Parts: sequence; structure tokens; C-alpha cells
Amino acid sequence: MIVGGPSHLYRSENEWAAFAERLKITPCPHCKKVGNLIRHGSLHGFDDASPPRQTLRARRVYCSNRHRRTGCGRTFSVGIADKLRRLSLSSRTLWRFLQRAAASSLAAAIRAMAADGDAGSLRSHRTWQRLWTRFDRSQSAIRTALLARGPPVSHASIAAAHRPAAAEVLAHLQATFPHDDCPIAAYQHAMQAFFL
Ligand SMILES: [Zn+2]
Repeated sequence: MIVGGPSHLYRSENEWAAFAERLKITPCPHCKKVGNLIRHGSLHGFDDASPPRQTLRARRVYCSNRHRRTGCGRTFSVGIADKLRRLSLSSRTLWRFLQRAAASSLAAAIRAMAADGDAGSLRSHRTWQRLWTRFDRSQSAIRTALLARGPPVSHASIAAAHRPAAAEVLAHLQATFPHDDCPIAAYQHAMQAFFL
């Protein structure tokens, strides 16, 4: 359970349905009591489709203290693994950007994202820079989490990358989830934690 974040990240509606069915026997992440959790609506946000659409970002769960229930009255959210915390960017768009920025320069990566022309790519220079800084700060934590699941990989393209350390983390991430179309979503789902 992540303090201040969702206590569960799921990737499919089936997985959410299974979680929702177990609410009555699931302990509250705040007060640890069992038997008071109920569904409490959902959170929506805009995605990076073109034009942007409202999509479901998380569902709320309430630890009820009403109607003779003895919960703590607090809520928590149950998130979706291909969404990013506080960002209207999909994990796939972020993955594409990070790979480019590690391989070439940040400026070239930003130009390439703009050339893609989808709404997720049309962000300001500063937004991309901030995303890169966030990734840069998270790199060692991500590396540590990945090392628990397998060794890093090495190949020639990593050494040749503009930022070899970042390229190594991204290659490690891809090697950890080789069969997933978005390694960042797979990471968030497997670790039950946000990537950035
Ligand atoms: Zn509670």
C-alpha cells in the first residue's frame, strides 16, 4: 500500500470487479478494519487522445462509519495502471518520450514528440523538461525495484545512447516486462506503485 496513493492499481475491468467483490473482506488501508468498505464513485480526467476525452482514472472506496458501520470514515482510491499520477498523459506516450530522450537529446526527443502530432505529444517544452527531471530523480528507485526482479541488460545501443544510464534503466524495464505493450503500465501494475 502506498501512503497517500491508491492501494491498488488494476489493468482490467475484470480485475476491478474481482477487487470490488472482495471489499467486504478487505481491510481498510487506513484503519485496517474489515467489513466497512463500500464503493464511493469514481475520478475522471482527460486522456491524451485527440480530441481529449474524459476517461476513468480511478475509483473511490469509502470506509463507512454510517448506518451502524464502524469504519474510519476515510476514503482511498483504486487506480488504473496505464494512467500516470497527476498527469493527463498515458503511460505509452511517456514511454515513447523517455526512450527518445535517452537515445538522443532532450531537444530532439521533444521535436519528435511534436512531430507525432497526437494530443498527448502536443505539450510545451517545459512540460517535457519537467517530465524528464521527474524521471531523472526516480531513476535509482526504479533501478532498485527492477533489480529485485532480474539483472540489468547490456547491449551496444545502451553504451551508444545519449544518456547511457537512463537508457540502461529503460532497457532493464523492457527486459523485465518483455511481453507487455507498455512496460511502464506493466511496472505500475507489478509494483503496485506509480512509475513517477
Ligand atoms: Zn478505515
